Amino acid sequence: KQYVYSFKEGNKDMRVILGGKGANLAEMTSIGLPVPQGFTVSTEACTAYYEDGKQISPEICAQIDNKLAELEAETGKKLGDPTNPLLVSVRSGARESMPGMMDTVLNLGLNDEVATGFTKITNNERFVYDSYRRFIQMFADVVMGFPKSSFERKFDDIKEEKGVEFDTDLTADDLKEVVAIYKEEYKKHAGVEFPQDPKVQLMEAIKAVFRSWNNDRAITYRRLNDIPGSWGTAVNVQQMVYGNTGDTSGTGVAFTRNPATGEKKLFGEYLMNAQGEDVVAGIRTPQPIATLNDVMPECYEQFCKVCDILEEHYRDMQDMEFTIENGKLFMLQTRNGKRTAQAALKIAVDLVNEGMITKEQALLKVEPRQLDQLLHPNFEETSLKCAQVIATGLAASPGAATGRIYFTAEDVIEAHKNGVQDILLVRLETSPEDIEGMNIAHGILTIRGGMTSHAAVVARGMGTCCVCGCGSLRVDEENKVLTTPDGKKYHEGDYMSLDGSTGNVYGERIKTVEPEISGDFETFMSWADEVRTLKVRTNADTPRDALQARKFGAEGIGLCRTEHMFFEEERIFNFRRMITAETVEARKEALEKILPYQRSDFKELFKAMEIYPVTIRFLDPPLHEFLPHTDEEIRPLAESLGMTFDALKTRVESLKEFNPMMGHRGCRLAVTYPEIAEMQTRAVIEAAIAVNKEGQNVVPEIMIPLVGDIKELKYVKDVVCKTADAIIAEAGVELPYKVGTMIEIPRAALTADEIAKEAEFFSFGTNDLTQMTYGFSRDDAAKFLNEYYTKNIFESDPFAHIDENGVGQLMQIAINKAKPVRPDIKLGICGEHGGDPRTVEFCHRIGLTYVSCSPYRVPLARLAAAQAAV
Ligand code: ADP
Ligand code: MG
Ligand code: MG
Repeated sequence: KQYVYSFKEGNKDMRVILGGKGANLAEMTSIGLPVPQGFTVSTEACTAYYEDGKQISPEICAQIDNKLAELEAETGKKLGDPTNPLLVSVRSGARESMPGMMDTVLNLGLNDEVATGFTKITNNERFVYDSYRRFIQMFADVVMGFPKSSFERKFDDIKEEKGVEFDTDLTADDLKEVVAIYKEEYKKHAGVEFPQDPKVQLMEAIKAVFRSWNNDRAITYRRLNDIPGSWGTAVNVQQMVYGNTGDTSGTGVAFTRNPATGEKKLFGEYLMNAQGEDVVAGIRTPQPIATLNDVMPECYEQFCKVCDILEEHYRDMQDMEFTIENGKLFMLQTRNGKRTAQAALKIAVDLVNEGMITKEQALLKVEPRQLDQLLHPNFEETSLKCAQVIATGLAASPGAATGRIYFTAEDVIEAHKNGVQDILLVRLETSPEDIEGMNIAHGILTIRGGMTSHAAVVARGMGTCCVCGCGSLRVDEENKVLTTPDGKKYHEGDYMSLDGSTGNVYGERIKTVEPEISGDFETFMSWADEVRTLKVRTNADTPRDALQARKFGAEGIGLCRTEHMFFEEERIFNFRRMITAETVEARKEALEKILPYQRSDFKELFKAMEIYPVTIRFLDPPLHEFLPHTDEEIRPLAESLGMTFDALKTRVESLKEFNPMMGHRGCRLAVTYPEIAEMQTRAVIEAAIAVNKEGQNVVPEIMIPLVGDIKELKYVKDVVCKTADAIIAEAGVELPYKVGTMIEIPRAALTADEIAKEAEFFSFGTNDLTQMTYGFSRDDAAKFLNEYYTKNIFESDPFAHIDENGVGQLMQIAINKAKPVRPDIKLGICGEHGGDPRTVEFCHRIGLTYVSCSPYRVPLARLAAAQAAV
């Protein structure tokens, strides 16, 4: 089996085995772009490495040797040959790019002897020792896991000792000194000398890249981005080209279009006399790409041509890395660039208008979950005008964020745990260790770093508002204070606001407003609606939610949780009277009080949804959620019920349950207290009659929750129909209505053929269905699921993405059994999963009629449904 491929053997469609970087290096090679040659050790070799107990098998070693020999023959250089050394980079590269999450080693192949020989042939001692010190540091960090800071500190010490500000100011002799110090430092950590054998260096580096697949930040990144741990990373071994030989060399990164706004204009940065991560690490301030035209016009022109070729070839915005060695351009990487949602939409729409791609292809270019970014609030214009700009940085990732500031990722996590709602992370610069805190923060502000700095790249990926490189602010991370140029201080917990679209920083809270779907967004969503077959409804309990969802394109309400209509003082009081009542009469009396609320709520909902269907679920939650807890709550209740305080207290005690989620809830409430179902039916039907009198054409859908046995459903349905039919007859009107059920208990799924005889529609309640299928309490699972991720038992939260194998199979069984009994049965899903793109795709596949999700997820579900249909 082939585990190692030279760049000449691969192409862009081989990313599964070559990883994204390797596949694209191969593709660029094949279309004739200047790419330093090399080979890719496949992701399958990575999997094999883990299977073989973290070892590279002799078979794979031999293939690596072969490809290395080929590379040596091709370049005419030899690894470890002092008279003509081949130096290589060892680069990670997973199927999906995970920027900065895994590791790279440059200048591999250097040792004392090679350094001496290389100096002779290049006649550039400074360059050789600059490369050597970089290599030792990267090897120590990436391969050996020694603390980076201990090497960085030594480097800073030397700079200070020599009185220079930048690394480029160090002389050859200074750098030789650095190398000597680094080797000593290495020995101190390792107990042995820095390895001089290039072959050993190479194999150790390859293994280290394999290992980096499972470092903490890579694992976190994968979880946040739904990348399976089973994929593994490929390793690219590539001939080095040198951006650090002097002033005619350099390195840079660029995008063919602006990744923040989508504007069609080359966007990027470079640094002369630099290598690798220098540009993004912020050690010197990089130059905007356009100025390369002044420094090296020919190179710039060639680079622009390459950009055009790549965009034309990939038919998408490209994110590229390049190096110039003594005036000659080399391409080191290209990939479809990460972008903000705003940019993604603009680029998708532009590419269609430019005739580069079809509408269907455009739909696949935007990640559904990205749309979330556009649905977040913006600053309200008048409040924004009044606000004082205290500093301006780079507009790195758009959005508006207002919140309390924290100075470390840990503090952000802590504040979040303590319930702080709006959080901003303020850092000198961020590093991959900060990723968890960055994910929680609503906005990120950094003092250092450019548009391609870690903070900027990660924030754009997450859709988090980010202002970076805000150099006029001073931050004292130790004492947790931020100081403005005119001396104003902000401390941990103080409010600030960030505008990621302008780069403006404000020292106060600013009011925000709801977003709208317009412009490119609207165009794009209309394309999505053209192709999708799955309908998208919303879960809404209030007219406000319903209206918001309509604006976002919802085609009905798939779930109205009636219990949510009682979270209000007067209502909850009567509700408590109802559930604590000891007699049917007392209960009916309380229900009488509740009826008018429900009826007017339903009317409002029907009106808000106009022509679209509304599914109303009857009371579902465990009663304990509504029980009075304190004596102060019990006392007035007892009075209005005509009971003594003690009697009511005893009654409340008796209603407590050990396992409420599996207790007295769902249709069991209606079975024990049919008068509840009667009241709710009356409210629904009377509301529908009322709005239909005003010219609407509502067909209410009544949904009975938590059915496990057909007889339960039949019993409750009879109550509903008897009540409804009587009201309709009395009103002398025609009113069709539907009665259906939730499928959320495994038994219901398994007996769906029986249930379909009574139920006119099914809605899969996948929150409960997941809970009951796994036997995990959905309220407690979070406590132990983290361990499941770190131990690779689960890759993702089954309450967030449907478990296709188990829960999904139950859904499939239910559908297969129900369809023959009732061919026109309407099938929906209304758990949290309804707004998860992966689950939406699954729902499309198994033939559901609609998904229902919270209002803010509606656009996302529309897009996911379209993508599933493309
Ligand atoms: P990442 O995936 O984190 O971007 P890369 O493997 O792309 O890591 O490497 C980081 C940087 O190292 C590249 O952007 C490039 O500047 C430099 N680099 C990698 N390989 C080479 C090479 N063969 N020659 C010169 N520079 C290289
Ligand atoms: Mg890269
Ligand atoms: Mg449920």
